[in-house]
Amino acid sequence: MHLLVSGWLKMSLITHMSVYIATLGVQTPRHHGVGSVEGGIDNVFVQLKDTDGRSGWGEASPWPVFTGTAEAAAGALDKHFRPFVVGHPAADVAKIMAKAVKAVAGSPEAKAALEMALYDLYGQQCGLPVSELLGGRVRDEIPLSISIADPDFGRDRELAQRATDDGIRIFKIKTGFATHEFDIMRLEELRRDFPEVDIRVDYNQGLVAHEALPRLRDIATFSPTFIEQPVPADNWQAMAAITAAMDIPIMADESVFNAVDAYRAANARIADLFSIKIMKSGGMRAAQDVAAVGKAVGIGCYGGDMFESGLAHLAGTHMIAATENISLGCEFYQARYYLTEDILDAPFACDNGKVQVPTASGLGVAVNEKKIRAKATVIRE
Ligand SMILES: [Mg+2]
Repeated sequence: MHLLVSGWLKMSLITHMSVYIATLGVQTPRHHGVGSVEGGIDNVFVQLKDTDGRSGWGEASPWPVFTGTAEAAAGALDKHFRPFVVGHPAADVAKIMAKAVKAVAGSPEAKAALEMALYDLYGQQCGLPVSELLGGRVRDEIPLSISIADPDFGRDRELAQRATDDGIRIFKIKTGFATHEFDIMRLEELRRDFPEVDIRVDYNQGLVAHEALPRLRDIATFSPTFIEQPVPADNWQAMAAITAAMDIPIMADESVFNAVDAYRAANARIADLFSIKIMKSGGMRAAQDVAAVGKAVGIGCYGGDMFESGLAHLAGTHMIAATENISLGCEFYQARYYLTEDILDAPFACDNGKVQVPTASGLGVAVNEKKIRAKATVIRE
């Protein structure tokens, strides 16, 4: 029976591949130690169609100051990956991804988008949610964190109130993009007004090494659950020194993209925790590899993201659902709290502050093709 099913899945070939660059509007500016976002974000969407008329969707969410550009991701998908995708079965996802890794150096967001679309399609063909294809779920819901990163703190206070009204109990305060006094003021007010909330801090590389420790000791008085990426990504010596000096756990984000980075980072003990993102690792399976390195050496993990729509959030959700060592929640807040309009047919599901892992086949929520085409500036098919 299994052979028959497997053979049938191999018969369903990918017939079409469309690549879109689409501009998604955002509600407010966001400032981070590494750069800002204002007006909109350019994300790349890939749609795969099979011989039975199904569509599988993937999203690349590049940020030029962090991982790469939309133009590079679209080029990788359209020119370099297309030849070994069209005409092949989605069931060959592992073989196809091995080719993608060899075909293009870097462009992890493009690889994440391709793998996402293949698993979405393969899951629909099998009648299984993607989390089952990634090993099976260890959790059905994931605590959601929102980010406090608006240069206008008044707007962020409104967001914080709206989020806590919705049951959210985790805030991540983006620090290091303005003054230290601004950071302290926001922490004081949020601690005072939202005492029930789990507070984390993320510098996005915003401190220089020689001034980091005194500032971090001020931040530590607010007892955040962790402090993320205080200094530049390549300054591993400073990351290691800070990790050794501080009682508050230090998280590596920009310093650790993939499992090779994670192995080296663990050896150098540059952090107590890793932020795992499918846009850094190059997909869900590669993200699970990072978590596995962390698990082997006792480094806990958190589900980070980029400026994603609900589509990439869904992929991250299935990945975290199937990965025991990502236990510190996720930050998939953009679809509900940041974009002016998401591109899914139904809202990205959160209930009482927790992301709900879909149970339908594939990624579990359909993409609205009309919405993507309406926002697309470049389409290649
Ligand atoms: Mg971060």
